[in-house]
Amino acid sequence: MSRLVVVSNRVALPAEPRAGGLAVAMRAAMRESEGLWFGWSGKRVRDASGALHTLRDGSLTYTTMDLSHEDFDHYYNGFANRTLWPLLHFRLDLVDYRRDTYEGYYRVNALFAEKLAPLLREDDIIWVQDYHLIPLGQSLRALGVGNRIGFFLHVPMPSSDLLAAMPNHDVLFGALSSYDLVGFQTERDLDRFQSYTRLYGGGRAFADGRMRSADGREFRAGAFPISIDANLIARQAEAAVTRASVRRLRESLGSRVLAIGVDRLDYSKGLPDRFRAFEHFLDRFPELHGQMTFLQLAPVSRSEVPEYQALRRELEGLAGHINGRHAAPDWTPVRYVNRDFSHGVLTGFYRQAQLGLVTPLRDGMNLVAKEFIAAQDPHDPGVLVLSRFAGAAAEMHEALIVNPYDLDGVADAIARAHAMPLEERKERWRTLFRRLQRHDITAWRRKFLEALTA
Ligand code: ADP
Repeated sequence: MSRLVVVSNRVALPAEPRAGGLAVAMRAAMRESEGLWFGWSGKRVRDASGALHTLRDGSLTYTTMDLSHEDFDHYYNGFANRTLWPLLHFRLDLVDYRRDTYEGYYRVNALFAEKLAPLLREDDIIWVQDYHLIPLGQSLRALGVGNRIGFFLHVPMPSSDLLAAMPNHDVLFGALSSYDLVGFQTERDLDRFQSYTRLYGGGRAFADGRMRSADGREFRAGAFPISIDANLIARQAEAAVTRASVRRLRESLGSRVLAIGVDRLDYSKGLPDRFRAFEHFLDRFPELHGQMTFLQLAPVSRSEVPEYQALRRELEGLAGHINGRHAAPDWTPVRYVNRDFSHGVLTGFYRQAQLGLVTPLRDGMNLVAKEFIAAQDPHDPGVLVLSRFAGAAAEMHEALIVNPYDLDGVADAIARAHAMPLEERKERWRTLFRRLQRHDITAWRRKFLEALTA
């Protein structure tokens, strides 16, 4: 049986306390045969990049690589997070393109390839994850690696005219044709990639998923919506009810309804708009004052990038402003918390909530939307208010689908969710949850790997 080699920017080592759903899924996939997980060690070193560390855990090997401060700054903080992340989330206004970070990104990708290639065996299946590593396949091919290589893009694929605004877009996105299979979150993302390839790449897309690059390389592309371990989260949420932090949250609410938002502090998540929409809700439905508390959990992320620092200041201002205008001595409408919680506790919080607010301006998938549904009490499920611009909206039609830019529309959806009868809530939830059970994280990786090895 061939070995599965997963390559991603970060590697979740076995001792990592907060390995997310993706990490668990990857480990399970790598355990089905023998596996190797390769990526950055999380260490920034003073001298040259490239020192390797190896750790074995049963049939699984973790090999990680250090990066120098400069390489890390150019590759990760620079090109990946200040050029590609905004570009791929349709935020041309925030794209900061610099030739030195572009070159650093290529340099680190070439280094990944150079260090990984000698570790590979002839029949290894290689699976590269996400926008940090777009040119890795091409770098591996240049070193003579002829293995099956798949790539999965976890973030959105934007419209071709946006992509084309980035200098060297054709070099970078053309490199995707070095993979045997390129996976996207939704049919829309796939469709936009196919249009881009036709319009700007000089290539062709065929109806059966086959594609051909301008230089005649044949490869395939498909949609593989990522998911969660729905049954596991349902069990975790049920068990979490007795946890002290979940109990304290419940007691603090009294008879009030809880609306919850859970997002990394990132501009793609639409948090300022969500806060403003909640303010519209308070302005337009004064009779509901004192009846709902909005809890936003937003752990700080990418705090070295200036746009993230500005967002943090903006949200602090907005939370203070809304509470200043609307709070009563015994009621704070917005609770804004920058902390991380264990996944178990988080699922308990979801279950406490009658409303899940998931309103990103753009999101590849949004796993929080899926986790919120999986965590609900089947006898009294909460309602999901979901942005049409999250990949998850393509599969979750029974949520209340909103346009996050339409603040009054979001306010209406909050009011509608608040008033929704139990029967309707149950019916919507049952359909959503059953679909999640069928299309869970295991189904996702199997489908991708089957397509890659077919
Ligand atoms: P992204 O990958 O852009 O951060 P997703 O919604 O797809 O967005 O995934 C976010 C993951 O991070 C989810 O699994 C969610 O449970 C987790 N998460 C988000 N906020 C917190 C928090 N405060 N504490 C713990 N986990 C969190």
